[in-house]
Amino acid sequence: VYLKAIEAHGFKSFADKVDIKFDSGVTAVVGPNGSGKSNITDAIRWVLGEQSARTIRGVKMEDVIFNGTSGRKAMNYAQVGLVLDNRSRKLAIDADKVTITRKLYRNGDSEYYINEDKCRLKEINELFLDSGLGKNAYNIISQGEVDEVLKARPEQRRNLIEETAGVMKYKLRKKESEKRLEDTAQNLSRVNDIIQELE
Ligand code: ATP
Repeated sequence: VYLKAIEAHGFKSFADKVDIKFDSGVTAVVGPNGSGKSNITDAIRWVLGEQSARTIRGVKMEDVIFNGTSGRKAMNYAQVGLVLDNRSRKLAIDADKVTITRKLYRNGDSEYYINEDKCRLKEINELFLDSGLGKNAYNIISQGEVDEVLKARPEQRRNLIEETAGVMKYKLRKKESEKRLEDTAQNLSRVNDIIQELE
């Protein structure tokens, strides 16, 4: 899965609809201070489901909406779409191109879409699980994060390796199965009690 394009509209400094395209290989973004380079990585984090305004350098989530300049009035919503190349079918959707979109209105309403279909954030998280993409998948390494990995406790580092290796999905499923087993055992014991009472 690789990022083909970012379509942003009303997100931070991107008042006009922008379509930033990426080719395979390395892309470098250059520009003067304050021109909006970091707003691009903020946009990616945001669509991947970032819930903390602070992580994307805001105070409240509505701060991501274009808040106007001297010559231009503020927007009412921010929308960002990530266009992903899914020819590898790593994302469990039968399409070569998958677009994940997040939209936030000034009144706080928020919407997520997979392709054109409205969905919940949970579905996006599930889609990304073990794909190597996602909010916690180390797609974006900010300054200081390399240090954090080096300083992490062994269990934290193990989590990181397991997420990268793709075993997280199985761990989650194992947990769900164990819970179901436990529920069934409890039901059985209740049935046994009833049988004994009847005998
Ligand atoms: P540096 O090299 O200094 O890190 P940069 O190129 O990464 O700069 P960003 O930090 O991405 O720049 O962009 C900051 C710019 O985005 C500022 O000019 C700021 O005014 C603008 N900006 C941020 N949020 C909004 C918003 N909600 N509405 C309008 N403009 C915004």
